[in-house]
Amino acid sequence: MNSAPPTIPQRMALIFYGTLLITILLGVTASGLRERAASATAMALAPASTPTNVPTLTAPASPSQTSGPSPTASATPTATLTPTATATASPTQTFTPSPTFTPTQTPSPTNTPTPFPTPGPGAENRKACVPILTYHHIGHPPADADTLRLGLTTSPERFEEQLAYFKANDVTPISLYDLLYRLALGRPLPEKPVIITIDDGYDDVYRYAFPLLKEYGYTATLFIATGIIDAGTPGYMTWPQIEEMARAGNDVEPHTKDHVDLRRRKRDYLIYQILGSKQTVEAHTGREARFFAYPAGAYDDNAIAMLKELNFWGAVSTDAGVTHSLENIYTLPRLRVSEQIDVESMKVYLRFCGF
Ligand SMILES: [Zn+2]
Repeated sequence: MNSAPPTIPQRMALIFYGTLLITILLGVTASGLRERAASATAMALAPASTPTNVPTLTAPASPSQTSGPSPTASATPTATLTPTATATASPTQTFTPSPTFTPTQTPSPTNTPTPFPTPGPGAENRKACVPILTYHHIGHPPADADTLRLGLTTSPERFEEQLAYFKANDVTPISLYDLLYRLALGRPLPEKPVIITIDDGYDDVYRYAFPLLKEYGYTATLFIATGIIDAGTPGYMTWPQIEEMARAGNDVEPHTKDHVDLRRRKRDYLIYQILGSKQTVEAHTGREARFFAYPAGAYDDNAIAMLKELNFWGAVSTDAGVTHSLENIYTLPRLRVSEQIDVESMKVYLRFCGF
């Protein structure tokens, strides 16, 4: 924990430059096109497909090269984020799980809300560096796919390549629950954890991603806009398919009913979209849903307050980043994955946490 102060300027810089970039990109985009903006942002942040390109996510970390707190700062351009990972991960390695919290580990089949796990000693200072990967379509885009669709798409071949890389390099997919138990209770995580999140519930996820996840013994978190599934919308999974994925160990969590922007909404509307989708997911999986994904990553204070009121334990955003704490548990940052993220680019993502 003594090594935390030197990393603050780096994190501030990461947040500043990341916010600046996102603000610029969003600024030229109409609000109704937020998904497209998020996609463009992610594409700008993501490593380009050209193998020789240096991923631009390393740019925010460049100020750390001049502050020079790290021996690895000058190693490679992509190593500059490493200090954050090592500084935050190592001090908490020795925490042991408390047996008194065991009951919260297994999802409750009842409707009784499970309270947020009472943070244990040191939780307020605990951080975890875990790349939370964001997928949408995992399949083959149509021939006339536009930039938006392509930006949301990872081919099954690329997805398998990534899973195979994880397997060969001891990178371990964990769940958002594992992350929360780490942050709140100090439970240990694998040495190189990642979290696979798949948004929106497209039918290609069931067709291509589900078999591959099973083959590699991994699970993912699915964020489902329940009204779209209820309507039987073409191109999306059905409830039986989603239920099958849940039974296989994948977490299914709500993503509103109608995939709407939650900012500047009235209380009743937030209740309808958030509680409505939570209850629908729970009715189909038989498990309590405790995590949420903001459509297009759009949130405000009222949306966060509603999640807390409804006993959600956390939420993911589309902010770019890899460092998590109880402070940002309702706006967890993620890293966008698309076809552009080949193995070399995935290595860059993992290197942000020093993996
Ligand atoms: Zn979405």
